[in-house]
Amino acid sequence: MINKAKFLEIWRPLLQRFRMPTQEQLDIDFDRLRVYEPEILARAVENLLQNHRSADYPTFGEIFDAIEQVFQQRPMTNIDDEKGTTACRFCHDTGLSVPYPNPQNDAHYCDCEKGRKRRAGHLTYRKTGDVKKARIAYEEA
Ligand SMILES: [Zn+2]
Repeated sequence: MINKAKFLEIWRPLLQRFRMPTQEQLDIDFDRLRVYEPEILARAVENLLQNHRSADYPTFGEIFDAIEQVFQQRPMTNIDDEKGTTACRFCHDTGLSVPYPNPQNDAHYCDCEKGRKRRAGHLTYRKTGDVKKARIAYEEA
């Protein structure tokens, strides 16, 4: 996850272009967005600079739409990572079919192996509250 300084560096063009958000709003956005790769955030910034029509700083929903578009524009072929395994082209190996966090903070699991593992781990954790059991369920799914 990126730190605040790095986030602000990526985010600066938005802060210069649009009406400055409150410090509180900016902190909330940072908290929600720091989970994304810097490269995804940088592309979301470009997307917003091109497409955001208002003079106001974009709402989180608008920022989130831009991130969704960036994900959709990623190449539709499977990407091989260094370990020789194939990344899922739907969830980019996050296991989540909808990026998290999202405005509703709903978890939607992907149908791929990683999604199956995450779902199994999550359900076991909800049932038992036991991190160790959840990890075993994740590994065995
Ligand atoms: Zn997947």
